[in-house]
Amino acid sequence: MKSKYAMIAGLVILATVVYFVGYRDGSLDRDPPVIASANAEGISPVKARERDFYAPNTEDLAPDEMRLIACGTGMPTARPKQAASCWLLELGNGDKFIFDAGTGSAERIAALQIPYNFLDKVFLSHLHTDHFGDLDALFVGGALSGRQKPLRVWGPKGDTPERGTKYALDHLYMALTWDLDGRKGITDPRGYVPFEVTEFDYKGVNEIIYQENGVTIRTIPAIHSLDGPVSFILDWNGLKFVFGGDTYPNKWYAEYAKDADLAIHECFITVPGLVDKFKFTPQGALSVGTQVHTAPEAYGKMMSIIKPRMAVAYHFFNDWDTAPDIEKRIRTTYDGPLSLSTDYMVWNITKDDIRVRMAIVDEDVWPPQPSEEPQVPDPTLQIGFSDFIVNGKYDMKDVIQPTYDAINEEYGLNEEQP
Ligand SMILES: [Zn+2]
Ligand SMILES: [Zn+2]
Repeated sequence: MKSKYAMIAGLVILATVVYFVGYRDGSLDRDPPVIASANAEGISPVKARERDFYAPNTEDLAPDEMRLIACGTGMPTARPKQAASCWLLELGNGDKFIFDAGTGSAERIAALQIPYNFLDKVFLSHLHTDHFGDLDALFVGGALSGRQKPLRVWGPKGDTPERGTKYALDHLYMALTWDLDGRKGITDPRGYVPFEVTEFDYKGVNEIIYQENGVTIRTIPAIHSLDGPVSFILDWNGLKFVFGGDTYPNKWYAEYAKDADLAIHECFITVPGLVDKFKFTPQGALSVGTQVHTAPEAYGKMMSIIKPRMAVAYHFFNDWDTAPDIEKRIRTTYDGPLSLSTDYMVWNITKDDIRVRMAIVDEDVWPPQPSEEPQVPDPTLQIGFSDFIVNGKYDMKDVIQPTYDAINEEYGLNEEQP
C-alpha cells in the first residue's frame, strides 16, 4: 500500500515539475491538444448545438406554438420526485395558464423562472389537496416574488355552496389572516388581495368559462369522489389541449376530448401496485384503483376512443418498477403516442410536431426579475407589536447601524432604525 501511495505522489510531483518547467520555457504556451477528432478547421467538435433538454428561459416560443410543462404528476402522498397535479401551459401569444396547483408544485413553478405577473391564472379541476394544496404557496410566494396583481382562480361550484371553489378559497384566505396581516406595510401589497374566484357549474357540458386574447376554455364534468370535479378543454390558434382532472372514465371526455393535439388524463397505479406498495387492502385497491380513478387498461381504452396526437398519463408514482406494468396494461387497449409523465417533462406542440423532453432546472433558484417596478412599502400600515413584545427586544442597534449607513449612502436614502 505504502509503495502505491509513494508512486502516486511521485507522479504528481513529476507532472507538476514538467508543467511548470514547460510553462516557463514556453513549450506549453499554445492551444491544448485536441483529443476528440477535429473538423476541417481544427476546432473541437464539442461546441454549442441544439440541446436535447429544455433549459428554462433559453427558448422563445414560436407564434403558433404551445409549451406544456409538468409541474406535478404524482399523488396526495408527498414525495421529493413528484409533486401532485400541476400543469403549466404557455402559448405563443404570451399567455400562461396553470391547471391545478397540487401539493409541492409551487417549487416546480418557481424553477421555471417566469415573472409572477404572468402566473395569475389558475384553473382547478377539483378540491382535493393533491390538486390545489399548494395554492397558498403560489399565492403568498408569488406575491412576495413579483405578482403585483390578484391571483385569478377558476373552479367548479359544488353541489352545495360549501363544496364549491369560492367557499374553499374564501376560507383559505381567512386561514391566512395572520400571515397577511404580518406583511402589511412591509411588502408590496398588490398581490395579497383576496383571490378573484370565478365559479362555474360543474354540470356544464362543453360550456365556455374563459374567453380572452384568442383563447377559449371549456369544461366538462368528471366522475370522482363526489359531484363537482371537471376537466378543461383549451382551444387556441387551431390547437386543442385537454386537461383531465381525476375521474372514472366518462362519456363527456370521450366525446369532447376527441382529436386533441395533446390530451392529459389520469392513469392510476395498478391494483397489485396499490396492494404491494401502498399497503392497501385488496378491496380498497379495487375500489380506488378502478372505480374512484382510471385504471391503466381503462386509460388506454379512452385514448383509443379520442385518438389524441399525444396522450399524457399522470397520477401514479413513475418508477422503474411501476412504469413497465402500467405501460403494459395501457398497451393492451391503446397503441398510439404516449407519455408516461413525470415532473419537469416538457411538450412543445405545433401543428406539425410534438417534441417531448425533460427540463433541467437549477435547484439554487431565486425569484425572477419582476416584470413591473415594485412598490415601496408604506410603514404606517404596519400593525406592529404590543408593548409587552416590543419590550422584549434586545439592543442590537449598534451592530445593525452600519448596514443602515451603507444602504443610505449607496442609495441616497435617509432611513432610520425604528
Ligand atoms: Zn381527486
Ligand atoms: Zn388526485
